[in-house]
Amino acid sequence: MKKYNFSAGPACLPDQVLEAASLSSKQFSKTGISILEVSHRSKDVVDLFNEASDRFRGLLDVPGNYHILWLQGGASTQFSMVPLNILPDNGIADFIETGSWSTKAINECNKLGCAKIIGSSKEKGFTFIPKTVTQNADSEYLHITSNNTIYGTQYKRFPEVKNKNNIIVADMSSDILSKPLEVRKFGIIYAGAQKNIGPAGVTVVLIKDDLLNLNLRDLPTMMNYQVHVEKGSMFNTPPVFNVFVVNETLKWLEKIGGLDMMHKINKSKAEKLYDEIEANPLFISPVKSEDRSLMNVPFVFSDEYKIKDSEFLEFCAKRGLMTLKGHRSVGGFRASIYNAMPESGVDMLISAMRDFRRNI
Ligand SMILES: *Cc1c(COP(=O)(O)O)cnc(C)c1O
Repeated sequence: MKKYNFSAGPACLPDQVLEAASLSSKQFSKTGISILEVSHRSKDVVDLFNEASDRFRGLLDVPGNYHILWLQGGASTQFSMVPLNILPDNGIADFIETGSWSTKAINECNKLGCAKIIGSSKEKGFTFIPKTVTQNADSEYLHITSNNTIYGTQYKRFPEVKNKNNIIVADMSSDILSKPLEVRKFGIIYAGAQKNIGPAGVTVVLIKDDLLNLNLRDLPTMMNYQVHVEKGSMFNTPPVFNVFVVNETLKWLEKIGGLDMMHKINKSKAEKLYDEIEANPLFISPVKSEDRSLMNVPFVFSDEYKIKDSEFLEFCAKRGLMTLKGHRSVGGFRASIYNAMPESGVDMLISAMRDFRRNI
């Protein structure tokens, strides 16, 4: 039976990507050795990194004055690396708090400067995106989380930035490459790969030229964006296999028809799932409708039904629909329907929701 993995991350990858990953572990390119043992100083690997960056630049239409970095430490390291590089001592940065990931970014920023929370949906369980926010004129940058993986909210329009240098920084871990994006509106974009573009262990960072070399403090070498730019993301041994898998995912995205087409497919998948949640009296979505994510769809049993979550989860698992348990802080269910989740998986889930309702 085909299994569909609705996990929020590490998440599903396209079959052809897993196939290529598997082959590469035996033999990478024409090297005759496994990707797991090949030197990052070899031409094949340098070419691989350039190819991945070029594809990424092409798909997302990244302007020439932005660098693309392949780093380690996950998006969580970026919570510190961003302020280390662009927030002066005693400087302030604006944050919109839309979930636990933004809270973590706020906490790390506060160790170096002052994170001002200019908008938060915490009181309402992070079920919406705050839109009327007043930015501080003396703030160095505004930080947002474009898609809130746990709570299932997503920016449909990004805020106009109004701070000292008009810089917006975005954690796009869970929706990068799910739709076209105006990169030029951002100073830094970062994303851990394991939600939408590859395996855990590599983080893509886009950084605008003029944010490099600010020399605000004596940085640990590994924390310095400039070093990684100069070394082509190979200051130390990079995660070669992970970048290989990302590159295969990028090939797959190109074959699908790029981000316009991917967005169309993602919208179609999400719409039908939200439609079912609305139509099925058993389920409700806790999220404000205008802010609902195309990537992570949390839903819960409506209060009138006294059914244990585990019953529906087991019902789904018998049909090969896996990892639908909601985040421990939200409960209920969460279907993560990233790029690689085929429409057939969403259709199967909708059938399961209907059949389960029929059977009670
Ligand atoms: C998963 C996730 C993170 C954390 O990523 P790591 O790579 O595990 O550090 C940060 N932000 C968002 C939005 C996420 O979804």
